[in-house]
Amino acid sequence: MRKKIAVITGGAGFIGSHLCDKFIQNDYKVICLDNFITGKLQNIRHLLKDKNFRFKEHNISKYISMQGKVDLILHFASPASPEDYLKFPIQTLKVGSLGTHNCLGLAKNKKSAFLLASTSEVYGDPLVHPQPETYWGHVNPVGFRGCYDEAKRFAEAITMAYHRVHKLDTRIVRIFNTYGPRMRINDGRVVPNFIYQAMNGLPVSVYGSGQQTRSFCYVSDLIDGIYRLSHAHIHTPVNLGNPGEFTILQFAKLVLKMCSAKSRIIYKRLPVDDPKQRKPDITLAKKVLNWQPKISLEMGLLKTIEWFRDNG
Ligand code: UDP
Repeated sequence: MRKKIAVITGGAGFIGSHLCDKFIQNDYKVICLDNFITGKLQNIRHLLKDKNFRFKEHNISKYISMQGKVDLILHFASPASPEDYLKFPIQTLKVGSLGTHNCLGLAKNKKSAFLLASTSEVYGDPLVHPQPETYWGHVNPVGFRGCYDEAKRFAEAITMAYHRVHKLDTRIVRIFNTYGPRMRINDGRVVPNFIYQAMNGLPVSVYGSGQQTRSFCYVSDLIDGIYRLSHAHIHTPVNLGNPGEFTILQFAKLVLKMCSAKSRIIYKRLPVDDPKQRKPDITLAKKVLNWQPKISLEMGLLKTIEWFRDNG
């Protein structure tokens, strides 16, 4: 029997590269596309000699031409950290809109399944807490984060349209804050920032008063959930994330403790439209995927800090 073929866009990124590993381990052939706007060759170097892995440097906001069969497209290409998408707002909008359209066109052409990486950012600065999939969100379309939030909201809308009109076999995952090995130490997000600062004896930069909350999911848990979703039959969005909720100040103190660091905490200006609270309601994922995260924040941080010590 021939192996199934998965195309992974953004496959050299943090989450994309872990997905490449997961699908190869589960007997797929993987075709990885990336243009390295935020991805890194380093993340997939170990796969380059694998006969089940093929890499193609391509900007998927441009037409994607591909020979042969494709069974599944996992669309993970996009800048995803606030600093990155503030630096590349037009590319972020293009990959969420034109890039998603191109991927859906490829899926239609190949009669393949399609899985969209969406985000908790579609909920904006949420007025409902925790956030269930039925919440429509509270987004500022013209604010600095609008380029990412609205691109992903459009991506969800066009995915549902292709599902309804062309009967495409689609899935949408709404990913909440995820961390782990292969994050870029300088991607500007809170996890690498705090670890870098703590490891180097620098002051830890808490934005605002640090009372805003986030929920952090270790990458292996997320990847397990995405794999399950790719094999489940649910077409409406599914939240994946760890419901453990922490204030950013609590998180800063935990990172300092786990790095045995003596750095002080300094307070900086809160970025515009920074969501005040975020926590996934994962009732749906529990029910339809029989999934819930297994790795505690302490355990995940331990692994991440170790990885940054060796690779940072
Ligand atoms: N944050 C912080 N210090 C940093 C980086 C981020 O206090 O050095 C805060 C940021 O304001 C936000 C939270 O940490 O409230 C998570 O930020 P991140 O950039 O990781 O992603 P977001 O969840 O906002 O998309």
